[in-house]
Amino acid sequence: MSVRSITVGDVNITALHDAIGRFPRPLARVFPGVPDEQWAPFRDRYPEVFDGPDHWRLPDYCFLVQEGDRTVLVDTGVGPPEAPAAKWLRTSGRLLEELAAAGVSPTDVDVVVLTHLHLDHVGWNVTRAGGTPRPVFPRARHLVQEADWAYFTGEADDNDREAFDLGVRPLEEAGVCEQVRGEVSLGGALTLLHTPGHTPGSQSLLVTSQGERALLWGDVANHPVQITEPDWSATDADPPAAARTRQAILARAEQEGLTLAASHFPDPFGSVVRVEGRRYWSSRANEP
Ligand SMILES: [Zn+2]
Repeated sequence: MSVRSITVGDVNITALHDAIGRFPRPLARVFPGVPDEQWAPFRDRYPEVFDGPDHWRLPDYCFLVQEGDRTVLVDTGVGPPEAPAAKWLRTSGRLLEELAAAGVSPTDVDVVVLTHLHLDHVGWNVTRAGGTPRPVFPRARHLVQEADWAYFTGEADDNDREAFDLGVRPLEEAGVCEQVRGEVSLGGALTLLHTPGHTPGSQSLLVTSQGERALLWGDVANHPVQITEPDWSATDADPPAAARTRQAILARAEQEGLTLAASHFPDPFGSVVRVEGRRYWSSRANEP
């Protein structure tokens, strides 16, 4: 049984299951250069993220972080049926139902951390009900790294730019988007870390409270195979930079015993373990 809610010292973190779908392109195209037979041991270990012989089954989690009376949302999923990511993944998101089940209404959200601006992480930023786009979380500051803003208004591909124009630019027009640069303390237990490579402005949220630590790392690794094979690259804007960031964060996670929260893993919470000298993902659900 998947663990959906954890505490890190005084902070509660809840995984919000926005959607699950089949990644449209086959694995061989998403992970270029990885021979099919090399997938075999990982199919056995992580069966939930494979869909038949050729495809990736992609869960999409967002995270609710509650510290005292502050409410932070990390990423906004694939979004409603009209959102570009919902069309791409051929399924729409349930984030608002999941939030309601956690007792949170959209107006309670104080901060939205966008780990990066790929379409499957910005889906619920904006609603178009009634015509004009409006922020779904109207009171929240939406935090984006400057480097992602520059990338998604520049060299990103057409799909990502469309998602940006529909789902991110209106935040700026509504005055609720704030660009940040590098490592930024959000006060209390929360710090943003710049973890570039998947996109130039990818960021992770570090939670430190009462000696406990968790890292909500967006897509630093977007498939659990990358815990063992950090050089295997999927949808990274800069594969060598992404691999370096994965190596560094994995080493730190192991050293510090970090709890990790991942957007696209079979279970949202887990940690890095060693088996016969190699690193693997261990779901929180499997821990004693
Ligand atoms: Zn993603």
